[in-house]
Amino acid sequence: MRKLFDKLYNKDEDSFYEILEKNLKNNKRMFIVTSNPETFMISENDNKMQELLLDKNTILVPDGIGIVKAARMINYDVKERITGIDIANKLIELGNSLNKKIYFFGAKPEVIESLNNLISEKYPNLKIVGSKDGYVKDKDKVFDEIVELEPDIILVAMGIPLQEKLIYKHLNKFKKGIFVGVGGSFDVISGHKKRAPKIFIKLNLEWLYRILKEPSRIKRFYDSNVKFLFKVRKLK
Ligand code: UDP
Repeated sequence: MRKLFDKLYNKDEDSFYEILEKNLKNNKRMFIVTSNPETFMISENDNKMQELLLDKNTILVPDGIGIVKAARMINYDVKERITGIDIANKLIELGNSLNKKIYFFGAKPEVIESLNNLISEKYPNLKIVGSKDGYVKDKDKVFDEIVELEPDIILVAMGIPLQEKLIYKHLNKFKKGIFVGVGGSFDVISGHKKRAPKIFIKLNLEWLYRILKEPSRIKRFYDSNVKFLFKVRKLK
């Protein structure tokens, strides 16, 4: 697990966005994993996940406050959270100002539909070259279609680890593209779900808001976060 902490992006959010912008402008390929304690815990028992996280071309950013705090506990100087939803919003903004092409893959069909409508209205210079809900059976086939469309930004919203494994499996077929697994971001950006109020985000309690809104998340929270804390203590 220490190797994952070593890889964690440790500078501020703005500097990360500068990298995004530069890579977008220069048509570079980039794979971003927004990590939280669940990401680190899954990789403990999942070789494929470990391989993709440790790949030198994968950029790991600290999405959850649990990762930031844990990193600091074991003396890593991690600046701040950089969340999947903020990265998604930033890429949409940048894509619009740079006239780029985007593909949305994931979430429920009605979510994808509202997302398409909202984005094409609000960001007319960002070209949506295609989109597909995340419940389609043959997801590999969708990726083969995405390759043909040569998008500059590919957001995959299916939850961890499905979204990361899918991206990693197909990544080498692409010459360019910023790829990010963005979890439940489409639900929020499309307006189907609300993100936590600002005060929760400011107090680093976004995780609590999500549990309060969806109590079924509690088991997932326990399985990842509590066990994670014990692991980090051992590292200490
Ligand atoms: N999802 C999907 N296909 C699946 C399972 C889930 O597209 O087979 C979508 C789901 O509709 C939701 C997202 O993946 O939009 C996962 O959201 P969640 O809030 O669980 O992710 P988190 O942000 O917690 O990682």
